[in-house]
Order: sequence, then C-alpha cells, then structure tokens
Amino acid sequence: MTQILLNLAGNAVKFTETGAVDILADAVDGNFEIAVRDTGPGIASKDQALIFEEFQQVDNSSTRQKGGTGLGLAISKRIAEMHGGTLDVESVIGSGSTFRLKVPIRMNEDVRAA
Ligand code: ADP
Repeated sequence: MTQILLNLAGNAVKFTETGAVDILADAVDGNFEIAVRDTGPGIASKDQALIFEEFQQVDNSSTRQKGGTGLGLAISKRIAEMHGGTLDVESVIGSGSTFRLKVPIRMNEDVRAA
C-alpha cells in the first residue's frame, strides 16, 4: 500500500505545475479507498489504459520533460490486484487526474491463497 501511495502521490506532484494535490481516504462498501487527485495536465482517454502497461508513458511534452521509467503504475496496479483490489484513473485533459485505489477490507479466502 505504501508503495502504491508513493507512486501515485509522486506522479501527482511531478506532473502538477499549479493548483493542488489532494489525497483522500475512505471506507466504502467494504473497500478501503484512496484517491489521489491532481490539477495537472490530465491524461487523454486513449492513453488511460496504456499508462498501466509496463514501460508505457504518454507521448506529450510534459512526460518528456519530467522523465521517468513508465513502470510505477504497472507495478502499482499489479500490487492492488494481488490484494484483490483495483487501481483506476479518471481524467480530463487540462483539468487533472484522479487515481483511485480500492482494496477489500476483508479479503476472500481464494485471493488470500493465490
Ligand atoms: P513514470 O512516471 O516513471 O513515467 P508511471 O508508470 O508512474 O511511470 O506513469 C506512466 C505515465 O503515465 C507517465 O509517464 C505519464 O505520462 C502518465 N501519468 C502518470 N501519472 C500522471 C499524472 N498524475 N498526471 C498526468 N500524467 C500522468
């Protein structure tokens, strides 16, 4: 969980030039949820699935200037799924992004055994 939060918060701070980064935590429908919301450049719909794949970065000037490996989100999503959870993004170009981690508070036995 710490690794995921560090990746999401690190990206939000890295890509946000003006505005704010908010981190919200809640318990909803049996899930522990963390949302990391920024007012950065946003991510186009066509890129929103791509960024969760290994070594994939959005091909824009912001990403080129900031560097990185393109691995953080792929690893974070994998960790979330190993805990029986999900990691998703909602984003609008020019308005910012919200990355949302959901992890079940009580994990199913089959996930725990996997
Ligand atoms: P890295 O940040 O090392 O490139 P990640 O897997 O963490 O690798 O992110 C992949 C890509 O997703 C980034 O290169 C960037 O293009 C995009 N991205 C991630 N987080 C954000 C964000 N908060 N705002 C805008 N783009 C983002």
